Amino acid sequence: MNPSGGRSESMIAVGINGYGTIGKRVADAVERQPDMGVVGVSKRTPDHEASAAVERGFELYATAADRRESFVDRELPVAGTTADLVSECEIVVDATPAGVGEENASLYTDADTPAVFQGGESATVAPASFCSRANYDASHTCESTRVVSCNTTGLARLIVPLDEAFGVESVDCTLVRRGGDPTQTDRGPINDIVPDPVSVPSHHAPDLQTVVPDVDVMTKGVTVPATLMHLHSVTLTLGSEPDHQQVQSCLDAEDRVALVDGAHGQKSCADLREYAHDRGRLRGDVWENCVWSESIAADGDSLSLLQAVHQQADVVPENVDAIRALAGTADAETSRATTNEALGVGL
Ligand code: NAD
Repeated sequence: MNPSGGRSESMIAVGINGYGTIGKRVADAVERQPDMGVVGVSKRTPDHEASAAVERGFELYATAADRRESFVDRELPVAGTTADLVSECEIVVDATPAGVGEENASLYTDADTPAVFQGGESATVAPASFCSRANYDASHTCESTRVVSCNTTGLARLIVPLDEAFGVESVDCTLVRRGGDPTQTDRGPINDIVPDPVSVPSHHAPDLQTVVPDVDVMTKGVTVPATLMHLHSVTLTLGSEPDHQQVQSCLDAEDRVALVDGAHGQKSCADLREYAHDRGRLRGDVWENCVWSESIAADGDSLSLLQAVHQQADVVPENVDAIRALAGTADAETSRATTNEALGVGL
């Protein structure tokens, strides 16, 4: 960590508005980069996450002047308001709850501060949607962009290289979705398996088309009582007929796709999270798509496989790349390589 005070003039000054599940991870990831640093993080509530932000060396900002008092009551130092933070940074990452980002958009526009929004916002919040491997250049020096959701990021990272290597004619994916993040105790189901939504395609198909516009895609969502990861059962129709080894080699060459192996004990999402913890990763985060090697079934032009996606983590390197895309300081490949090296992406 290179806490905010260590940022030099040449680094991109980043503000994080919303320091929850995604915001705190993005803040840590930004601090690890050689070319950017965190000016501060903005919080609405003076809770334990606010205390942790201060302990980690981040300047704390309150969402509004009338909320400052509640931070002072908790003996948490406040450097200013969100408006101050937005005016002091070069790029703001909005990681507030879904829908709040849209309410904040005019704050960023008025301050002329480019903004990275998250996948909970509608696609119209920004002129571009973002997945580094799919369409980095579409956000180059834009006024704002939206990193697509965790599920969409996982699908785009898989489909783009397969399309480049073999042609992808159509995709059919059932997304087994975690009911909530570990701290979302108000979400469910507790004892059910829920078509979510019942209608098809689920919202993931149009979301995917914001970053991979030409793909013919069907998605179905099923929500289960789990918090660890999402699991995707994907079937693709390809434009050619690669064998198992060719598919495996194609995915193996992807820095944000990890081939995992049931035979080596990586038999479940819990195993994958435990593996990340064992590797010493902060919060046990899995930034990569995890594709089970044994699940890769290539049969003529049909390919199917299973992959797991850690919903709290896969969008984090994407946010870092999105900052560089908006700043216009690196091309896609350089940004991805820099992000990966600084974070240690690659299981
Ligand atoms: P979260 O609830 O964990 O964190 C949001 C943070 O924003 C909290 O610290 C909250 O106190 C703060 N906040 C609430 N209202 C605010 C306001 N008006 N102004 C500033 N801060 C405010 O949410 P999250 O899971 O981190 O989600 C943030 C965004 O990321 C959403 O768009 C979500 O859809 C998206 N996303 C979430 C996940 C996930 O699995 N959690 C994955 C990918 C994308």
